[in-house]
Amino acid sequence: MRIALAGIGKIALDQHVPAISSSPDWALAATVSRHGGLEGVENFARIDQMLAARPDISVVSLCLPPVPRFAMAQAALRAGRHVMLEKPPGATLAEVHVLRDLARAQGVSLYATWHSREAQAVAAARAWLAGRVIHEGRITWREDVRVWHPGQDWIFEAGGMGVFDPGINALSILTHILPEPVHVTEAELDFPENRQAPIAARLALSGNIAADFDFRQQGPQTWDMEFVTDAGRLALRLGGNVLEIDGRPAGGAGTIMGEYPALYARMADLVRKGASDVDLAPMVLVADAFTRGRRNLVEKFEF
Ligand code: NAP
Repeated sequence: MRIALAGIGKIALDQHVPAISSSPDWALAATVSRHGGLEGVENFARIDQMLAARPDISVVSLCLPPVPRFAMAQAALRAGRHVMLEKPPGATLAEVHVLRDLARAQGVSLYATWHSREAQAVAAARAWLAGRVIHEGRITWREDVRVWHPGQDWIFEAGGMGVFDPGINALSILTHILPEPVHVTEAELDFPENRQAPIAARLALSGNIAADFDFRQQGPQTWDMEFVTDAGRLALRLGGNVLEIDGRPAGGAGTIMGEYPALYARMADLVRKGASDVDLAPMVLVADAFTRGRRNLVEKFEF
């Protein structure tokens, strides 16, 4: 199937292009990029130009940040194309409702991806937790924004989500592996005085689960979650790629790989089946953290 990639930035180059190139399902037929696209692939500066010129491209994968992504998603769906969205699937929940309803009306597939759910130990953690009683959970997601999002001012603008941009990855795993749904009961958000989105956040969730998100971590980076259950302790480390049961290795691997190939395989499957996959549970938690959260002003942040 021919696919177009829009927004040729960090994640497109790091993950989407290699995943498409190595997939038997996809051929990268065009890019939509204001800054030039990729060598050897036809590029369009605007999505409407691509949609008009290339009716043979049935699928569009959108790798832009959430705020500018919505208009492109709407244009692609209106033009009858299947659409794949980077996470988070929108700047607001209502936007994604619009896209979901439009995809349904157009009879095309919409896939709101959550790459962290494809990490190597997530399926095993979900299977292990099924049917168990969780007494307590702790999420620690602390990374250095200067390393992972160098110069990306959009992340601290309204709609950029700040530390919830990585934090929503943790919540996408959490909402996938827990046997019962959870909701935000309290939140505290730290906003740099010169920014519109938080640099750190602490959440309390039902079921005695706590989350600690921080963009100011230097040195070793932490993407862990730990649960105490009626049948022992489970830990997921390295963003869902390492599983430990009662402190001993129980699955996964020490590297991050395979998430994006799995997303593209799933998209191919959805298109073949005429289905969509739009799970907004992680984004509901983030929206509720903004709604429910106390706001602290903290020191200025510059890249
Ligand atoms: P990025 O490099 O800052 O931006 C991606 C591309 O989007 C830009 O290169 C640009 O493409 C286009 N773009 C940016 N702002 C735009 C605007 N206002 N209007 C139109 N186009 C715009 O961001 P990224 O790190 O790739 O992240 C993009 C999405 O992927 C985010 O939702 C993020 O959460 C998700 N993601 C990122 C990572 C990561 O490691 N960075 C990991 C997983 C998921 P052109 O120059 O080609 O037009």
